[in-house]
Amino acid sequence: HLDRISSVDKGVNAFLHVDTDGALAAAKKVDDDVAAGRPVASPLAGVPLALKDVLVAEGMPTTCGSKILEGWHSPYDSTVTRRLREAGVVILGKTNMDEFAMGSSTENSAYGPTHNPWDLDRIPGGSGGGSSAALAAFEAPLAIGTDTGGSIRQPGSVTGTVGVKPTYGSVSRYGLVAFSSSLDQAGPCARTVLDAALLHEVIAGYDNMDSTSIDAPVPPVVAAAREGASGDLSGVRVGVVSQFSGEGYQPGVLASFEAAVEQLRQLGAEVVQVSCPSFDYAMPAYYLIAPSEASSNLARFDAMRYGLRVGDDGTHGAEEVMALTRDAGFGAEVKRRIMIGTYALSSGYYDAYYGSAQKVRTLIARDFDAAFATVDVLVSPTTPTTAFKIGERVDDPMAMYKADLCTIPSNLAGNAAMSVPSGLSADDGLPVGLQIMAPALQDHRMYRVAAAYE
Ligand code: GLN
Repeated sequence: HLDRISSVDKGVNAFLHVDTDGALAAAKKVDDDVAAGRPVASPLAGVPLALKDVLVAEGMPTTCGSKILEGWHSPYDSTVTRRLREAGVVILGKTNMDEFAMGSSTENSAYGPTHNPWDLDRIPGGSGGGSSAALAAFEAPLAIGTDTGGSIRQPGSVTGTVGVKPTYGSVSRYGLVAFSSSLDQAGPCARTVLDAALLHEVIAGYDNMDSTSIDAPVPPVVAAAREGASGDLSGVRVGVVSQFSGEGYQPGVLASFEAAVEQLRQLGAEVVQVSCPSFDYAMPAYYLIAPSEASSNLARFDAMRYGLRVGDDGTHGAEEVMALTRDAGFGAEVKRRIMIGTYALSSGYYDAYYGSAQKVRTLIARDFDAAFATVDVLVSPTTPTTAFKIGERVDDPMAMYKADLCTIPSNLAGNAAMSVPSGLSADDGLPVGLQIMAPALQDHRMYRVAAAYE
């Protein structure tokens, strides 16, 4: 995989940092265990993995795709990183991403865009485009992403790979640089459903270092993926979300989705239409809640504690250094989010914006509850279009935001959702993804359906 990275990553730009020595040392340890007849740490011992550069890892830089963190090294491992190392997984390096995970194309990275291996002129999705592109380009068989509004699932969809957002609180956020704390969730990215399940069980589980961590058994996702592989979905009720179709959806994406639903029916599932009317308001609610939390979380980048410092030449006061550093260190999208969030949280506007968005969030959770009272899983296209051209939406934030229309509701409700490849679009030959959503802590349901469908 290190050789593969050397030969293709100039064109793909999936990696921001390759930890050759660390990866070889971790691999050697597994080899030594095997040679000495010692048991290996997990089924994934020795398997290489690409880590999104928003999760801290000792001995490697963490940039979050931002200039403001350039040169910063974390003194500790995130819980996800620690669990990976303990399982013997070989971390190859850190992957490219939209700055602070804000974006849907990886074009907001301060280190240049990642290119989609299916067509290097197209985006690999975002914000975790680096992780998904690394899988699609065969630079790594496993990767970790984070999903606040769709950043694991949408890149999975447009690169023809599997991406899972586990139930909120089931994978620790300790050492995950916060964008929107009530939505952020790390999860597995892989080329097959079973690989994703094996990785899911390595990273999930209670952690007392994260106050929102759920103290409950990890859903049996590996067993569910194995069960699903038999291809029998009889007794499973699947709901098609009627809101996610129509205007703005590429015909090839809708055709692929209809074929996927037909296939689920042929595997024995009972398919019904389900209406979730509040989902129409998920995107506007998200674009108040996520920037509000981001404006607070990103206040820690104050030029004193981390990375970049500009204007510290004895002629500027501390506040000026802070302003100069934040001006130089943050990109345009991050500044836009901080301004929206600060405005939405300001006195006089708080109830009208943030308060209303929180109410919509409750309505969305209720729509899910009502739907899951009658079906086991919900399905939709993962994203309305296939991979668009690099540059096509950079000047149109609304067009960019629409990439997450179908993925945002599960973040707002905190339940589980994943994207599984559903073939190539008939109109452009590019990958399409099928989204499968399940109730909180019922992640195994979607793995069963995904493995049967795959
Ligand atoms: N594209 C969405 C955004 O820009 C989601 C990002 C994410 O999930 N990290 O906020």
